[in-house]
Amino acid sequence: MIARRLLQLVDDDPTCHDRHMSSKAQRLIADAVITCRAAVEVHRPGFIDVDADGRVKRSGSLADAPPTEDAVTRMSGLLMPGLINSHAHGPMTLLRGVGDGLPLERWLTEAIWPREGKLAPGDVAAGMLLASVEMLLAGVTASCEMYFADDELLDAVDASGGRVMCTPGVVGVAHLANFYEPTGRLAEIATLHASRHEPEGRLRVGVAPHSAYDLPLAVVDDLAGLARDLDCPLHIHIAETGDEGRDLEEVHGKRTVEVLAERGVLDGHVLAAHGVWLNDAEVELFASHGTHVAHCPKSNLKLGSGVARLHDLITAGVNVGLGTDGVASNDDLDLWQELQLAPLLARGTSGDPTRITAEQALLMATRRGAEAIGMPDTGTLTPGSWADIIRVDLSQPAFTPIITDDDLVDRLVFAGGSRYVTDTWVAGQRVVEAGVSTMVDTETALADAQARAERLAAAV
Ligand SMILES: [Zn+2]
Repeated sequence: MIARRLLQLVDDDPTCHDRHMSSKAQRLIADAVITCRAAVEVHRPGFIDVDADGRVKRSGSLADAPPTEDAVTRMSGLLMPGLINSHAHGPMTLLRGVGDGLPLERWLTEAIWPREGKLAPGDVAAGMLLASVEMLLAGVTASCEMYFADDELLDAVDASGGRVMCTPGVVGVAHLANFYEPTGRLAEIATLHASRHEPEGRLRVGVAPHSAYDLPLAVVDDLAGLARDLDCPLHIHIAETGDEGRDLEEVHGKRTVEVLAERGVLDGHVLAAHGVWLNDAEVELFASHGTHVAHCPKSNLKLGSGVARLHDLITAGVNVGLGTDGVASNDDLDLWQELQLAPLLARGTSGDPTRITAEQALLMATRRGAEAIGMPDTGTLTPGSWADIIRVDLSQPAFTPIITDDDLVDRLVFAGGSRYVTDTWVAGQRVVEAGVSTMVDTETALADAQARAERLAAAV
């Protein structure tokens, strides 16, 4: 009810919708094109037709391409959908690696939150700009962000040319005191959605309670209600560590996922970050509610949180994307590492090399991740989807020899990496060209982040 009342208060501004960068209709031809439709689909050689709005008109094997009057660009290498980072806290680039070696609770309360408390909106903007550039250079074209100073975060992604699902974070220590007031976080999120959300654009807005262990359940309920009313994703940390649900379990006699399911929190589009410590019943609850999971294997390994039951989640029918988490616990935004770790861990911990194929992993990093973050119009080169494309240089030892289509998919996952990404397009516009951002003066962005991080370190 509260969510609905707020929605009536903040008027929708239609002039802010459907804004995106313009580009010219063009045909891209490459040695190989991967489309990531229902299956990965390899076309050698392949083509992608992009319309003037920056959407894919058609894609496939060059032999099937109809005649075109659009500008044609031929290139060597592979064109494929940009990768999707389904769980990140981009502005934490200013805190890269901070608190290494501490367990999660102490890491949050002693290292991270005291520093985040000192972040000014300008710091968040600088941190997000650095994060956006880092991701675009690595071929990651969209991310799902949980943070604060949301306007600045959106502006930074906009400046970089990237795509974002910005889910304003709600954290107990920062937002509970005046949560329901007209100037509180609940109203702030509804206002942000009304003023900045572009239903089909590069900048979209969701909702993000940090976790059920950090916030009163009533607050989680109201945020879930707001997300359902806005028809946007609810992004929440669930079961990252084995201990985090203990207090909830003592009070309710049930585990976190069961409590959330009973309260209706899982009824909308829910993206659960981590999902490491789930029992069979919780995996089933995720599957029956259509809950999406952001699998963050590197962050989980670095913080010693464990290894998620990826194979069990997928077997149960849960949609899983890949996430880096924040760079304080990673320490980078290079999703190619998660792409490689996900199948390696699933196989290594089970002793079963048939678990998580290269194709499954690649789909998690692209189309499935896009679905998880509520942006199914990216992560694939299906007609109508956004032309968010990356070029991978195949003239490298890591990609030699390639005999079959399966070889290419296998090499991308197990031998590939961000170092082979040369160019990135978002909505048909080339935002990285030959390894250089066309949108941001990277040297200045790095210097600004460095100076701000130094001031922050001195203040804590
Ligand atoms: Zn996180």
